Amino acid sequence: MTIGVWVLGDQLWENQAALASVGTDTPVILIESLHHIQVRPYHQQKLIFLWSAMRHFAQDLERAGYAVTYDEAADFQTPLKAWIQAYNITELRIMQPTDRPFARLISGLRLDCKIVLFDNNQFIWTAAEFLDWAQPRKRMRMEDFYRESRKRLDILLEDGQPIGGQWNLDPENRKPPKKKNADFQPPRRQDFVPDAMTQAVIKKVRALDIATYGKAEPFQWGVTCAEAEEALNAFIETRLDTFGPYQDAMVTGEDTMWHSLISPYLNVGLLQPLAVVQAVEQTYHDRDLPLNSVEGFIRQVIGWREYMRGVYVMTDDDYAEQNWFGHQQPLPDFFWNAKNAKMNCLKQCLDQTERTAYAHHIQRLMILSNFALIAGINPQAIENWFHAAYIDAYDWVMQTNVLGMGQFADGGLLASKPYVSSANYVNKMSDYCKGCEYNHKARIGDDACPFNFFYWNFLDRHRAKLKSQGRMSFILKNLDKIDREELATIRQQAQDWHQSSIA
Ligand code: FAD
Repeated sequence: MTIGVWVLGDQLWENQAALASVGTDTPVILIESLHHIQVRPYHQQKLIFLWSAMRHFAQDLERAGYAVTYDEAADFQTPLKAWIQAYNITELRIMQPTDRPFARLISGLRLDCKIVLFDNNQFIWTAAEFLDWAQPRKRMRMEDFYRESRKRLDILLEDGQPIGGQWNLDPENRKPPKKKNADFQPPRRQDFVPDAMTQAVIKKVRALDIATYGKAEPFQWGVTCAEAEEALNAFIETRLDTFGPYQDAMVTGEDTMWHSLISPYLNVGLLQPLAVVQAVEQTYHDRDLPLNSVEGFIRQVIGWREYMRGVYVMTDDDYAEQNWFGHQQPLPDFFWNAKNAKMNCLKQCLDQTERTAYAHHIQRLMILSNFALIAGINPQAIENWFHAAYIDAYDWVMQTNVLGMGQFADGGLLASKPYVSSANYVNKMSDYCKGCEYNHKARIGDDACPFNFFYWNFLDRHRAKLKSQGRMSFILKNLDKIDREELATIRQQAQDWHQSSIA
């Protein structure tokens, strides 16, 4: 029997389950497929990041002694067949892909050897462990899962209780950005200079004859395990202590604030979630860092990230088609062309996305996704855009974050209420409204911010459905205070906006 391992593009870790099952003399293949990237117009930096990370990882494996084949091909089946024949491979080992579409692709392959799948070990909770936790429950809540994760991993605990007495310090992490505050000085992100291998990939991506999105350069992402660790260490050194307070704040010209920028690395295996959390916890003990920052960060990784993946595992293919509100508006063109966006908040976040393939959580949730939801954009259309636009986007994290959390398309499986707001929130948590031609205070009229008329229109249109969501009753009472005439104008402005399709 000759064993071979196929390493998928988001499994770039030498201890991933399929590689860990063999010796270093095993044939290994990695494939850059052009077919796979034509599903949607991906951000150029996403392609550069993935392909360069794969090439660097292949080089690392080769140095470790593996017989590595690296193919650039139109599809996966052709190079796999040739490689299987060349090495007389009788058993192909693959770590279970995180994304369902890729699992389907593997089961559709016609190869002349046995395929053996290994459980994916790039998350802290295995799929089976999550299902064991989730299935007996009447109510699924991230907070319950997070506490269970803390206990299971013994993170930030003292005698089985949370250090500091509280499990969740989120209320301390919602400071609005006030530049006059002495502590408000966002740090610089850790940048990496592309080496010759990355330069070659940049050249390839620039020359592609297929639709892409965003700008290839400046390309500042790390592409190796060592660079990913450097990025993590830089975060721990310079931003972890102040990660918490301004976690939700947005400021023009500050693309990254205090965020870690490690999601691209975690999602392809260049960093491992448990190691990240342990390094952060250790630093907390060594340096007595503020608990709200440390707890806030750890909750993102062992709470939200693991929970999102768990919910993805729990749901079926039809989750991707959910559309609880029945929204059918097409995605406005400016999502693909930031310069055409008129609302300053959208313009800033979209422009940043084009330049960097990154936006932080609140920009994604409360600007881009919030707008799409209240404007009634089709959830699958906005999901497709997020999937194309962000460097860290994969099916598992799209379905849960965009469809579940962002669009409430699953009717509340994931979120306890829709994440919607008017311009009031945008103005409080950012400086975007200051540079905008719309009036963030106006609900109707020529200069009314679309966030306002769409917000009230959304509540009005979906009043019956929203009534069943307990946490919405207070907001619906405010809707009742708007007189009929104004409500009619709000409806009309929302309709007109779509017809003119100007933002
Ligand atoms: P930080 O703010 O520094 O947080 C630390 C880490 O926590 C992140 O690196 C990430 O790994 C993890 N994390 C935090 N929240 C989540 C979450 N909800 N789901 C998964 N991981 C989480 N995350 C992605 O990894 N890929 C995506 O494509 C993606 N798309 C999103 C789309 C929408 C509409 C929303 C609301 C959220 C999305 N997220 C996505 C979650 C989150 O916004 C990003 O993980 C985060 O912004 C990445 O930046 P960071 O590394 O600087 O994160």
